[in-house]
Amino acid sequence: MTEPAQQFASDNQAGICPEALAALVAANAGGHVPSYGDDGWTVALRERMCRLFETDTAQTFLVFNGTAANALALSALCRPFEATICHAFSHIETDEAGAPEVFSGGAKLLTVDTPGGKLTLDAVDAAARRYEGFHHVKARALSLTQSTELGTIYSLAELGALSAVARRHGLRVHMDGARFANAVAALGCAPADASWRAGVDVLSFGLTKNGLALGEAIVFFDAALAESFAWRVKQMGQLASKMRFLAAPWLAMLEDDTWLRHARHANAMAARLAAGLAPVAGVRLLHTVEANAVFADLPVAVQARLRAKGWRFYTFLGETGCRLMCAWDTTPETVDRFVADIALSA
Ligand SMILES: *Cc1c(COP(=O)(O)O)cnc(C)c1O
Repeated sequence: MTEPAQQFASDNQAGICPEALAALVAANAGGHVPSYGDDGWTVALRERMCRLFETDTAQTFLVFNGTAANALALSALCRPFEATICHAFSHIETDEAGAPEVFSGGAKLLTVDTPGGKLTLDAVDAAARRYEGFHHVKARALSLTQSTELGTIYSLAELGALSAVARRHGLRVHMDGARFANAVAALGCAPADASWRAGVDVLSFGLTKNGLALGEAIVFFDAALAESFAWRVKQMGQLASKMRFLAAPWLAMLEDDTWLRHARHANAMAARLAAGLAPVAGVRLLHTVEANAVFADLPVAVQARLRAKGWRFYTFLGETGCRLMCAWDTTPETVDRFVADIALSA
């Protein structure tokens, strides 16, 4: 059995997109250039981020991966005795091995389990009120993932309302935007509308899943929060000496809305996959497909037959809740082949 070249296991299993790869090669032709972010590409990226987000005051930092971006961002918001309210399925809770707690010197995560991977006003309000006094940690931040770990999206109205609740409780707002591109593509709004205009103070802006090799941005919209942040980045081993090789592909992705084109494509492939799966007997879609993830309930025997055919994907929720991720390069043919194989298995 030949293994399919493309899989639905994760959007980070895809390779580097041509635009990012070309930028990497071009940056390498530049000879010796200043290190640690003093190169022309990194300087240009900081300025480009301000234009992208329609603000003069955004502060941008590049780090190696999304876990570091989240953990560093939260460490700038929370002191060791403070805490971040987040979803029970959030990446910071389930997939970062305690990095947010370590980077902040102990600040806890307070998890809330609400439907569809989306926090609600009532849940955030209750979590912020739950404990009083110095015997318990003090809620200081709210972390929202956009698009969420379950492939859903917060509307701009939902983001604004959640941020308002956060403000009422004195919480700063962090957004885990590992798939911010997929959300902005789906919402069809300006990046500023999906971030600071909706109350976000700091964004972990990822493009690795959308076509970069590595390198995630941390964007502070409140410059005061970025004070001394360069030291945190360095101390936690996240300062790239050859930063141009992170920055140049980033610039290329932001050029001509390449990042949005790739995200729109991934979202469209997820919609195609969902449409293909919906009519298959024995298969049930579990969450609204709004970005580039499809969650489907697949009987264990069906999963086994698909895996025997070479398909790789994660069983995420219980024994039958499978996650199928589409990437910037997922082809319609791959989607259609998977749907055909599942129809034969189901
Ligand atoms: C992939 C992902 C990250 C980043 O993960 P790394 O492997 O550390 O780059 C962060 N948040 C979410 C929601 C993700 O899916």
